[in-house]
Amino acid sequence: YLLLAIETSCDETSVAVVRNGREILSNIISSQIETHKQFGGVVPEIASRKHVESITLILEEALREAKISLPEIDAVAVTQGPGLIGALLVGVVAAKSLSLALDVPLIGTHHIAGHIYANHLIGDIVYPAIALVVSGGHTEIVLLEEEGKFRVIGRTRDDAVGEAYDKVARALQFPYPGGPYVDKLAQEATEEIVLPRSWLEPDSYDFSFSGLKSAVLSEINRSRMKGESPDFSALARGFQQSVIDVVTSKAVRAAKEFGARQMLLCGGVAANRGLRDRLSSLCEEAGLPLLIPPNKLCTDNAAMIAAAADLKWRRGQYSSLDLKAEPILSLEDWSV
Ligand code: ATP
Ligand code: MG
Ligand code: FE
Repeated sequence: YLLLAIETSCDETSVAVVRNGREILSNIISSQIETHKQFGGVVPEIASRKHVESITLILEEALREAKISLPEIDAVAVTQGPGLIGALLVGVVAAKSLSLALDVPLIGTHHIAGHIYANHLIGDIVYPAIALVVSGGHTEIVLLEEEGKFRVIGRTRDDAVGEAYDKVARALQFPYPGGPYVDKLAQEATEEIVLPRSWLEPDSYDFSFSGLKSAVLSEINRSRMKGESPDFSALARGFQQSVIDVVTSKAVRAAKEFGARQMLLCGGVAANRGLRDRLSSLCEEAGLPLLIPPNKLCTDNAAMIAAAADLKWRRGQYSSLDLKAEPILSLEDWSV
């Protein structure tokens, strides 16, 4: 069956055509980063307007690349939340119109379920599985006892990892979004300024990154007060090592405690080279199979939304036409 999926939760307008929930026929992504860069972050009103301008073009391009015409589509999936309300609305309205016009089922989809099930586009998932979700707005450890059953066992108490990367990047004078620049600088660094690790309570799977971010800022200030120029690459390395230590150890500990048979890494920060490498070696030591999507499927895209929507399609769990965009939406409640 052919599923058309739409993603507009933040600053990427994306439409994909996916066969049987796994075979990507097209996955067109139009990023607004160049527009938002000058403001140092995503401006919600501008994001909505840009989605309106591009959604039809991206839809046409996705159909053209997939060599599919609209009447061949069997269902329409859309990111319902979480995300920016005005941005989500553009996708939701487009999906409802298509569902009504084509008379096919509509499937409202959770954005983070999409990030997790991006892994289903590259391999088979074995349950129970532990997903380490590291993105611009989320940092979570999710237990999947079975397919489509989500239990969030740990989450950030302040900044998300991607958010911390972007704030540190700004302090290191990189443009938005700076995560990839910090990653590159950390990889190339020869020195490391060791920064604190925020482990929280010994049994906790929660995270906190705001203290680490402050530690970077105060190191920069300390150097400047002494009239020295801060060692940006040693700081980038220190920051990255602290983040990687904490997120990978907690994820692997969770996998052991819950008897996971597989580890899934996902979200935009999963593109981080250091994180991929460390998690790979820890999982190898633990004899735990690991899936990590290629970079293009880690950051926001509609194919991952199709992969998650497929869980609902196979169970006949469709949405009604009064589906609403939800800026805050629980992952657990979205379980099949
Ligand atoms: P959410 O999915 O939580 O709603 P989002 O969709 O905005 O948030 P993603 O698109 O999944 O987030 O990820 C974007 C984030 O990933 C940005 O913060 C960006 O800096 C970060 N990022 C991308 N590549 C890297 C990298 N190589 N190293 C570190 N961070 C990175
Ligand atoms: Mg984005
Ligand atoms: Fe995302």
